[in-house]
Amino acid sequence: MSALASPLADYVALTAKVDAFADAVSARCASQISCRSGCAGCCQVDLTVSSIEAASIAEHLRATRAAAEPPALGAEAAATFCAEDATADALPRCVFLSAADACLIYPVRPLVCRSQGLPLRYPSDFLPEAAVRLRVRSGAVTICPLNFVDAQPSPHDVLDAERVDQILALLNLRYCREHGIDPEQRVSLRALRDSAYP
Ligand code: SF4
Repeated sequence: MSALASPLADYVALTAKVDAFADAVSARCASQISCRSGCAGCCQVDLTVSSIEAASIAEHLRATRAAAEPPALGAEAAATFCAEDATADALPRCVFLSAADACLIYPVRPLVCRSQGLPLRYPSDFLPEAAVRLRVRSGAVTICPLNFVDAQPSPHDVLDAERVDQILALLNLRYCREHGIDPEQRVSLRALRDSAYP
């Protein structure tokens, strides 16, 4: 990433790197990864994101709403946004998950959504015990329980999630300094949805 690029441009470059890593692992470990279109197990959540991620999503929402032919967020999305899918006893459902279990902001989905399903390495004391699937010298690994059921991932198939989080934090800090925002501030996807579709 260039030191001269804007934080948002560097953030987009980071998402591209994570996507490339995910694509490579998916290709190498196709028989062990059950992630597919329509599986929305990772999307039963009310996410909050950092300010730089929120800016990327908000820009996408503005652009797609302004376009003559919205590429992703058309009438179907708007209708879905108006529906409250979560019930009192159901898991929360991401506000950007369509009725057909597709991500309505897929091109700009948060980093955490891009790495879900992959083997993720964190410091040993970071993960709840129940989430640990593997211990390696450099930390603990968590994986979706539907993936790597028959085999353990190779070290080069494990994403250093702590490192990705650190880079995201640095880019968010740069972005927040430029815009006078508290870097600790989190933005809910629900708030982003509501501001785009009041
Ligand atoms: S932003 Fe998209 S991928 Fe992420 S939780 Fe919501 S619907 Fe799922």
